[in-house]
Amino acid sequence: MIDKKLIDLQDPHTQDVVRSMKMFAESYAKSTNTYFCSDLEITQSVIIGLAKNKLESGAALCPCRCYSQKTEEASFAFWNCPCVPMRERKECHCMLFLPEQSPFSSSHQEVEMTLLTD
Ligand code: SF4
Repeated sequence: MIDKKLIDLQDPHTQDVVRSMKMFAESYAKSTNTYFCSDLEITQSVIIGLAKNKLESGAALCPCRCYSQKTEEASFAFWNCPCVPMRERKECHCMLFLPEQSPFSSSHQEVEMTLLTD
């Protein structure tokens, strides 16, 4: 389930950042031949989390980890999406980008975000 309280979805700038994270995820999935989860709420939640971190730290930090200092962590770039494990080994522990053979993957490389206004 998407926690819409995570960010202010009424704010136009927030909407733009969510939209840019959605476009990044779709483009990156296509370019790496990976697929979204069969439960697209997981995909949507990760995209919202990336947008939240982008708004808070200026970088799309992995939303599936905890950070004591987000801005400092972003400067290291290791967990900036796509993180080093994804770039080097195609390992996405958030299940945003899944290989075709994963039991959790779908055939989708695009996702609807109904919370976006247009
Ligand atoms: Fe992005 Fe890596 Fe997190 Fe997957 S595990 S969402 S590729 S930062």
